Parts: sequence; structure tokens; C-alpha cells
Amino acid sequence: MEALSRAREHSAESPILELRGLTMHFPIGGGFFGRATGAVRAVDGVDLTVQDGEALGIVGETGCGKTTLGRCIVRAYDPTGGQMLYRQHGGAVVDAATLGKNELKSYRREVRVIFQDPYASLNPRMTLLQIVGEPLKVHGIATGKELEERVAELLRKVGLRPEYIRRYPHAFSGGERQRISIARALSLGPRLVVADEAVSALDVSVRAQILNLLEDLQAEGALTYLLITHDLSVVDYLCNRVAVMYLGRIVELAPTQSAYEDPQHPYTEALLSAIPIPDPRERNRRQRIKSSGELPDPSKQIAGCPFHTRCAYARDVCATETPLLRPVKSGHWAACHFSEELSLEGVGATGGTTGAVPAIR
Ligand code: SF4
Repeated sequence: MEALSRAREHSAESPILELRGLTMHFPIGGGFFGRATGAVRAVDGVDLTVQDGEALGIVGETGCGKTTLGRCIVRAYDPTGGQMLYRQHGGAVVDAATLGKNELKSYRREVRVIFQDPYASLNPRMTLLQIVGEPLKVHGIATGKELEERVAELLRKVGLRPEYIRRYPHAFSGGERQRISIARALSLGPRLVVADEAVSALDVSVRAQILNLLEDLQAEGALTYLLITHDLSVVDYLCNRVAVMYLGRIVELAPTQSAYEDPQHPYTEALLSAIPIPDPRERNRRQRIKSSGELPDPSKQIAGCPFHTRCAYARDVCATETPLLRPVKSGHWAACHFSEELSLEGVGATGGTTGAVPAIR
């Protein structure tokens, strides 16, 4: 956990990325002449600061907008509104939401992504040398012998043997393929790595290895991670802070321990109650707190609190007034009218960063 404490030291200081009112709305067609008749509000006004050197987890159920948010940050999507203020290596701040093609090239050198599926994200016709070396070639950093040496070094760094440099992805296991993806993401010496469900497709023991690797790489290279996942135990393992997303908005933002042990938003409580517990006594003690119903249609605007249609604690005001994300405890923000009144159940200390990691250990 040394890397984590270093990240915590770092994170007190300087933001590397500040999202201000970020939106990503996808138009829905079907009107006359293909006109939009509405929009899916996948990301709907996100304000979020990512501190240099920290590991920040973004969690929420499928369809909450977390993957779209990650894609906006790496500029796979062009956000439809708001700002993404990125502090570059030299200290200058740029709005990454509006960067043009040429400026994007240097942004993408510093901000890299690791995708979920190590089977689908690697081109089966390319060797490791080509896969990992491609970004170095595209950015004109290395060719020929130098390229080969750099790729070999990257493979060593992620725990793969450099002798495998001319092999194809099919020769590797899922965990090894994810190491290849990580080597590719690290090839340009990034400062911010967005990992989108990077360990979800892996089995439990391999998952722990990859998380350990990410932790070690962070310590070595002063990396900042944005970890997008539906798995709260992964966040518990690696992240010093966590942002909980619901219907395109951040509803809770806090140090991981504080969010897990003392959640301030009913949605976070519901997510935490679903973490699998291997110990049957603890499992019986902890009641699963259900939020009723499915995630509402993100193309329909909900008046009041976006969670009120599913919230067990909703009162009349929740259907009419939208709660703002506001500080409710030291370093802990929540978007609920009644955070101070509710006594929500978290997960107690049973090991790990907060204790909620049975699935990984
Ligand atoms: Fe539930 Fe109301 Fe809080 Fe929203 S504001 S989370 S509906 S109690």
C-alpha cells in the first residue's frame, strides 16, 4: 500500500484535470428529415477534480455514464458541453474538450486509456512489437532498433519476457494480454491513465496481479489513474478517492474509506450492500439494501433528485428539488437533501483498504 500513501500525499495538492459542467448528450433521431427528437443525457453536467498522482475510482451501475465520461476524457468523444481543464506537463492549462486535431496529439500522449477486454482490444494480426511500438512510431519517437529496445523495456516493466516481442496476442493468456495493453498505454510515458473496466474480464487471481502491477507502476512513474468500474472491490483495492455516478451525474465524491464506511448518499449505500461477502455470518448480518426498479431511461429528464424514483428514503421534496453536490463532511461530498439526517449503512473493516475486498484477496 506504499503506492497508495504516496498517491495520497500527492493528491492533497495540484489538480491534473478539472471537469466543469461536462456534458455528453447523444441526439435521438426519428423526426422529420432525420431531425433529433431528444437526447440521451449520458453525461449531464459533471464537475470533478482529479488530483495529480491520485487513483480516483468512478463507479456506478451499467448505463450510469461512467464509460462515456472516460471516453470524453480521452477524447474518443467530443463533449457536447462544459470544460475539461488539463494541466500539461509544463504547467500550462488547456481545455481538452475543445482541442483541435494537432493539439490533441500531444494531449493523447499524456492521457492514455486501457480498455476492458484484453481479447478484443488487441489486433490479432499484430505482434507485440507492433502493438506496443505503434504509439512510439505514430508520435515519431522511435523506429528500428531503438523502437525494439523500448518495447522490450516496456514488456519487462509489465512483467512479460522481452523474448516474446515477435509473438501474436493469441499466444497469451487474458492476464498477459492485459499486461500488453498496459505496456501499450505506458509506451508514451503518460501522466494520466484512464482504465475502463481494465480487470473486469479477468479471473480473480489474475485480477489481483494486474491491480498490483498498476499500483507498482503508479509508484514508479507518478501516474494518475482514473479507474472506471462497476466493481467496488477494485476501487477499494487501488483508489484513494471514489466518485459515484448515477444517471450521468456525480452523486457522491469522497476518500474511499469514508465513502465505504460512512456513505452519505442512498445510492452508494445500495451499491455497497451488493458487494459479495464470503463470510456467511457477516453476509447474514449485512442486509442487502435494494434500490427498487431499473435505472431510468437517460433520455427522459427527471424532475427533482434523479434517484428519487428508486430511493427508499425519498420524501416529497425529492420529487421537485434537485439536490446539488455539496460538502457534507471533511472531503466528502454528496448530492442528497438528507445526508446529515440519514444513518446509512457502509461496509465495515474486514481487510483491504477499507475492508471491502473479499473478491480480490
Ligand atoms: Fe433519496 Fe431524496 Fe436523497 Fe435523492 S435527495 S437520494 S431521493 S433522500
